[in-house]
Amino acid sequence: MSLPEFSTQGELFSTAGLSASLFAPTDRYRLFAKVIYPRLVATRPVLEPCYCADNGRVALEPVLMLGVSVLQFLDGVPDRLAVEMLRYHAGWNFALNRQLGDSGFHPTSLGHFRDRLEEHQQSALAFKAILDGLEEAGLVSRQSRQRLDSTQMFGRVGKMSRLDCVRESLRLALKELEEGFGAQPRPPFWIGLWERYVESQVDYRAGAETLARKLAEAGTDVWQLLEWLGRPEQSRGKAGPQVELLRRVFAEQFDVRVGQATPLSKERVLVPPGGEPAAAEAGTATTSPVQAEPPAAQPPSPDSMNGPNPQAELPMAEAIDAAPGPVPASCASEPDASAGSQPPGGAAGVQPVLPPRVSDPPPGGGCPSLPPTPGAAVAQAAASPVAESASEPGPPAAQPPGAGAAPSPPAASGAVVQPKDKKQLASDRVQNPHEPEATYAAKGQGDHWKEHVGYKVQVAETVCEATLAPGEPTRNFIMGIVTHPAYESDEAGEAKMEAEQAAMGLGKPPVQYVDGAYISAQKLVQAAEEGRELIGPAPPPATNNDGRFTSDAFRVEVEQRRASCPAGHQSSQCSRLEEETTGRISFRFEWDTATCAACPLRAQCIKATHKHRTLVVGEHHTALQTRRQEQRTGPFKQRMKHRNAIEGTQSELVRGHGLRHARYRGLAKTKLQNYFTAAACNVKRWLRRLAWEMDPAGVGSRRGLPATAN
Ligand code: SF4
Repeated sequence: MSLPEFSTQGELFSTAGLSASLFAPTDRYRLFAKVIYPRLVATRPVLEPCYCADNGRVALEPVLMLGVSVLQFLDGVPDRLAVEMLRYHAGWNFALNRQLGDSGFHPTSLGHFRDRLEEHQQSALAFKAILDGLEEAGLVSRQSRQRLDSTQMFGRVGKMSRLDCVRESLRLALKELEEGFGAQPRPPFWIGLWERYVESQVDYRAGAETLARKLAEAGTDVWQLLEWLGRPEQSRGKAGPQVELLRRVFAEQFDVRVGQATPLSKERVLVPPGGEPAAAEAGTATTSPVQAEPPAAQPPSPDSMNGPNPQAELPMAEAIDAAPGPVPASCASEPDASAGSQPPGGAAGVQPVLPPRVSDPPPGGGCPSLPPTPGAAVAQAAASPVAESASEPGPPAAQPPGAGAAPSPPAASGAVVQPKDKKQLASDRVQNPHEPEATYAAKGQGDHWKEHVGYKVQVAETVCEATLAPGEPTRNFIMGIVTHPAYESDEAGEAKMEAEQAAMGLGKPPVQYVDGAYISAQKLVQAAEEGRELIGPAPPPATNNDGRFTSDAFRVEVEQRRASCPAGHQSSQCSRLEEETTGRISFRFEWDTATCAACPLRAQCIKATHKHRTLVVGEHHTALQTRRQEQRTGPFKQRMKHRNAIEGTQSELVRGHGLRHARYRGLAKTKLQNYFTAAACNVKRWLRRLAWEMDPAGVGSRRGLPATAN
């Protein structure tokens, strides 16, 4: 798309001709036209490579699109209203140097423009242009005092339960596959999956037991589908983004185990006294549960004879690779130690081992061989009943849902698909398949507990320590805005901020005000080595010793390898410890057993069962200890007030510019939104300062009329 001719000259019919009568010198649209618009015009050489030089179609002027985008975030209007503003708002037209009669454009063009910026890594273009202008105006410097804090940002999707996330991922994958299949035959189990996940929803009144079982069933169904897609003869429709997302969700939410599944602790509680097996669930194509088969009638499984299964915790690929060929059916029906108190056939309860959905175990009591992992060699599949049944796909209509020959689910072959325990779930797992990059995070306690699915935003702002004159607008400006996954720590966010500011040519702040989440011994030492000040409270010492003395009560001199306890006794021994994996160094101080035995403070220091006190601290403990003492002083508390102002800035970004909620989906687009948000906030502050400098009393702006009107 080629670019149109571009001129910054005002013409006879320019809206600028109306400026004297419509806009006061302190009017923000007039100031925008005078100060901000030239900055945007200067970005045109950067915007030009985002467009095709000559393809016969003339693009919308990119400077106009950039200006509309900034004004959008300044005035808080959506795309459609922004286009309306161009039609009806004289201030917008004047600010963007529009001529009378200039045509508008469709609101979706703004979306295409943002796509173009993101695609060419120019998401921060407007923010950088404004920052350069502020620097030239002498309002910020390349290396300035800053304060830094983070805030949460909700993604454009809601939080889903695990079951909803798996079901929705499966539904999207099925719909994607359906489009790709065309006239190709579907697998025999297709209709069953389609009915369960595309045409049906989980009953909202379902109890926890049913939901837990549905989750396990969904895992088995996903496995069945992925196993079928992994076969080489399935060449079409298996590499779409929704199928890839389904693979990821499956790996995040389920374990594939060899042998008996271990019921989750919660599920044990939920097993009803009658032990109603999972097969009783209406609408699922299940046959008799594997657990119902009398174990004594089956040949014993090697696993059951050898005690706990060493492969039980293997990930999917390893577990399957480790399987030594056909496994007797009893390997899946052997009750575990906890099943003794359950009625016969009731062990399935909620989850443990799912019954086969579509095919019974082969005659003779033996299990079919383990299903290959998705994408595994077909030789194994061809040798197994699984492959035989799946290699003859009939027309979908010929197969009743959930019946007939079909690939055996893992449960029928000795492997079970089991939902992972909550503690095993990764922080970066998919929460909602409609926006996989939006992750979960929670903070606070009790009434202040907050959780969200989305992102985390780091905001860095300059700190002017001078007192403002009455009515003077802020002299502080946003120096960086970083958007990153919600589950990442503030320390990780600070590192990203540092990298981003370095890429923008900004130096590390000589003084940085932060809260306790950004302070660690390592950070304090690093800042001191670089000659910078990191001002923030040190995190409190660990308090997991039942109220006994923490490291704070000890005077530790790591460099001299000595420490004195609250009773005033010197440590008798010091050992240097180094972690093999991380290389982290710590020191363990010990006190003499006889001294501790005779100490009157013993009850406050060590447990009755312990002989003497030990204390482990990091190698930079002195820096932490010094900061903890310093932060109790008045001058330090006074300095920390400079950090607190970042809360007001975040409130301004949230309430004035919509920072709390993402307008778009995905991390990259959310980053782009936040750059525009920060640019708009800086523009607003800059224009306010200009207006205040021109008219400190604010007379013209209060009257709403041009101060120099004819
Ligand atoms: S118990 Fe031992 S380490 Fe603790 S205060 Fe007494 S002498 Fe010191």
